[in-house]
Amino acid sequence: MAKKEFKAESKRLLDLMINSIYTHHEIFLRELISNASDALDKMYYKSLTENDGMTRESFYIRLTPDKEQRTLTVSDNGCGMTAEELENNLGTIAKSGSLAFKQENEAKEDIDIIGQFGVGFYSAFMVADHVKVVTKPYGSEKAWCWESDGADGYTIEETEKESFGTDVILTLKADNDDEKFSEYLETYRLTQLVKKYSDYIRYPIRMQVESQRVKEGTGTDDKPAEYETYTEDRTLNSMVPIWKKSKSEVTEEEYNRFYQDKFFDFTPPARVIYSSTEGASTYHALLFIPARMPYDFYTKNYEKGLQLYASGVLIMDKCADLLPDYFSFVKGLVDSEDLSLNISREMLQHDRQLKLIASRLEKKIKSELKSMLTNEREKYEEFFKNFGLQLKYGVYSDYGAHKDLLQDLLLFYSSSEKKMVTLEEYVGRMKEDQKYIYYACGETVDRIDRLPQTELLKDKGFEILYLTDDVDEFALKMMMKYNDKEFRNVSDKDLGLETESESEEIKKQNEDNAELLRFMKDALGDKVADVKLSERLKSHPVCISSEGGVSIEMEKVLNAMPGTNGQKVQAKRVLELNASHPVFARLQKLFTENPAEVKEYAELLYNQALLIEGLPVEDPVAFSNAICKLMAE
Ligand code: ADP
Repeated sequence: MAKKEFKAESKRLLDLMINSIYTHHEIFLRELISNASDALDKMYYKSLTENDGMTRESFYIRLTPDKEQRTLTVSDNGCGMTAEELENNLGTIAKSGSLAFKQENEAKEDIDIIGQFGVGFYSAFMVADHVKVVTKPYGSEKAWCWESDGADGYTIEETEKESFGTDVILTLKADNDDEKFSEYLETYRLTQLVKKYSDYIRYPIRMQVESQRVKEGTGTDDKPAEYETYTEDRTLNSMVPIWKKSKSEVTEEEYNRFYQDKFFDFTPPARVIYSSTEGASTYHALLFIPARMPYDFYTKNYEKGLQLYASGVLIMDKCADLLPDYFSFVKGLVDSEDLSLNISREMLQHDRQLKLIASRLEKKIKSELKSMLTNEREKYEEFFKNFGLQLKYGVYSDYGAHKDLLQDLLLFYSSSEKKMVTLEEYVGRMKEDQKYIYYACGETVDRIDRLPQTELLKDKGFEILYLTDDVDEFALKMMMKYNDKEFRNVSDKDLGLETESESEEIKKQNEDNAELLRFMKDALGDKVADVKLSERLKSHPVCISSEGGVSIEMEKVLNAMPGTNGQKVQAKRVLELNASHPVFARLQKLFTENPAEVKEYAELLYNQALLIEGLPVEDPVAFSNAICKLMAE
């Protein structure tokens, strides 16, 4: 019989497939099994409408490896194909997304489209140099055989086949140095591939598997065990995925085991999130919040994403579009019935269904975290230790676009409660005369607690949030307010505290000492924007505060970032002095007696204030000498 040529497009795809540089050759099996499953679906539907007594249990897919013939056969008792269907279905290929994608990217060598997207029947040519399809449509007397060696064409002939359905028979390519195609004849390898890609196909995938067992009558006290080889018909897939079972059918332990096996974690998850909908978009999602932080979580090697299944078939291992960055710690999977197996990554990005699912999952994750915060506080605090930083980055990123979603999930250490608190709790406790939500920054809670700037606020009984992560203050600045209450750094010039008499008093003191303060300011030059007497200090003689948008802590963070090109950011620093401290009385005295010494003292006090803030002194040797001089006096 004369060979027919493939249609032009199919030919190109075939060429690509045969000469492919793809690493994921193994997915051919997933593709053939999915085709078989589709054919079974069609058949099942037919049998329902024709009421011929067949049930779902009557259908199966079978794998038959034959080492002698070097063939692997994938059979199904599905709808089969007529000669015309063979011609249309296997002689042409629909203008699929994958082909278009591949053409656009032909120049880029390593693009692994096949690993990501289905390419259907033709993928068989990645591992086989000869493919034969023997098929008999349901209700027909005739059977047909389609055969091809690849790109040069195919033949279709009439043949014999006992029962309806399709056998796809692959003659595997010869092994070479790079690849051992004969591995697709090994039952352990086929079992593994079915588990990996097709575990949730709704029909049993069967195979004859050789096993060992203890011979009957042996292995007793007086007879050592003898083994025999036997063959059994095994179903390789588990069929009903755990995420399709209702929550009440699955035990906590089963969820945990599933998570640990699938996502390679030796700790059970902190929380299991189950979500499914029917209607506008049909999907099932099973998500997990890990109890531990993956070791590479805060590195650029960490890849976020959920596994994506289309009707039980894995199509992408890490679909990043399903998770926003701030929830990148979530693991899990989504199974949707609205996605096609052949969807390309580019198309996925614009897929409306996928966007809908992603936005629903985002809301679901948020509400689950909120409920954990309310009902399992300790567990939530543990979670926050692991992943809180990610939420805070989320508040800061995209110009604060996600703050409403995330702000109630944040925790900060509280000066008065001595533990982590939410903003809602803080605001709920605010004193009547308290204008702002106060915070202080530093390396550790202990160090912040000793900052002189916190003294006055603590005295007044105001709660202060202690921020220890670099991103914290940036996140708060992005939020600006919580519940209409502005955030205020304890080092800020204006703490909104002044009761009338206090501010009058300090104003007067500043005026009375104007000359001395100006003298000190001149001595310090550009280092400070101002020197003044302050009311925020109680027991300490000195501190630094800042004016304007950049705080001292932000200055530190910004300057530590790579790529600043030596251009340093500087907060507008104000040196604040405590008028009731003996040091100030001494300054006043010296100013009349020996102003040169005031200059030195100004320098010393400034450096002390820097040290308290955790900033380096500019000239440590000069600083040390100045102290020595003082000691020797
Ligand atoms: P896709 O499955 O994406 O449509 P394929 O190239 O995998 O593309 O298959 C082309 C067509 O061939 C299928 O749509 C189906 O109609 C038919 N087909 C493939 N395998 C089988 C099979 N085992 N039984 C019946 N029809 C099949």
